[in-house]
Amino acid sequence: LQTEGSADVHIDLNRLIGRLDELARIGAIEGGGSCRLALTDADRRGRDRFVGWLRELGMAVRVDRIGNVTGTWPPGDERPPVMMGSHLDTVATGGRFDGALGVLAGLEVVQTLQDAGHRPGRPLAVGAFTNEEGARFQPDMLGSLVWVGGLSLPDALAQVGTDGCTVGEALAGIGYAGEAQVPGPTPHAFVELHVEQGPILEEQGVDIGAVAGVQGIAWTELHLVGESNHAGTCPMRLRHDPGYGAAAIATFVRDMCLRLGGGQVGTVGRIELHPNLINVVPAEATMTVDLRNTDAVMLAQSRRELGDFVAALAEREGLEIASRTVADFDPVEFDPELVARIERIAEDRGQGVRRMASGAGHDAQMFARVCPSAMIFVPSRGGISHNPAEFTEPHQLQAGADVLLQLVLEFAG
Ligand SMILES: [Zn+2]
Repeated sequence: LQTEGSADVHIDLNRLIGRLDELARIGAIEGGGSCRLALTDADRRGRDRFVGWLRELGMAVRVDRIGNVTGTWPPGDERPPVMMGSHLDTVATGGRFDGALGVLAGLEVVQTLQDAGHRPGRPLAVGAFTNEEGARFQPDMLGSLVWVGGLSLPDALAQVGTDGCTVGEALAGIGYAGEAQVPGPTPHAFVELHVEQGPILEEQGVDIGAVAGVQGIAWTELHLVGESNHAGTCPMRLRHDPGYGAAAIATFVRDMCLRLGGGQVGTVGRIELHPNLINVVPAEATMTVDLRNTDAVMLAQSRRELGDFVAALAEREGLEIASRTVADFDPVEFDPELVARIERIAEDRGQGVRRMASGAGHDAQMFARVCPSAMIFVPSRGGISHNPAEFTEPHQLQAGADVLLQLVLEFAG
């Protein structure tokens, strides 16, 4: 096994795909995807399988008090490891690569080195972090956030999910409330391989993304209260219609993002009306606004403009509007040296590579707070993700995992 500037280092693609398939069958849904919402029974079974693989590889398994699972090799080596990893939870309509790839490629790197009889200069670790998706509990990236000390354990455990269950209850329910302390030990470095979940790499015909940073994310939940009334008898001028208010906010968000330009994006992904009937002016609306930008100043401006619009709307329409921040993450820059290494390794291997920003949040951005961190992206066909149709070509999986392997080899020494 050569470790310097070599293109001869390869993971076992069939073994990687075999594990991806096996994991995808846990919580399988129609179309080849998976539903393993955080801290559900399907998530437990996915974790159990991961722990099984860690043990098969002779790795030391650690489960912390927020349910993050890590394995370290060689076991007993207490020095800060080069850590790989991602998440095993999915959205309700998840694909088979989002998250799983980063975890299973980490296993593959370890096993490849073991098979080659190579003992790295530093320990290697592979982690799966709790509730990355934020589909059941907010904020997203909760486990890695707690790991790095960005959210206290009591606050994390008290988060209430979409089904009314708290993180603490759900975690205990699946038996993954571990004993290891949080915040967790600081790794030597952290690297996450992930599918792009966007169209850029495919559009450019490039198989490797060297991710230089992650967009800042601001999630706001708005609760609008007006006056329920008869759709036929209540004159337009007398209405206090939270359904209209929600629609006006959704339109404003889109117009604002187009006007601000640059990398500004905004999404209204959820609107719930009550009573939600054809002939009733609704009494209440609950909605979410997701704002993102790689530029912290522009992101802050978009939040201010949203706040100003909501205040003026409430005044004009006679609505009560309560606003709650449910996620607030600044833009992140990854370690420049690691990013440059990813580019160089890909180039040495004859792979097309593009430096890019991530539009989605990832566990690596939390580790970037405490240690040198970076991400490797591989293409998502059609830019499709959070969908059973999510797909990455086998040779692209191989390319990404091989770059991960080479990077870890160089960084672990
Ligand atoms: Zn993911």
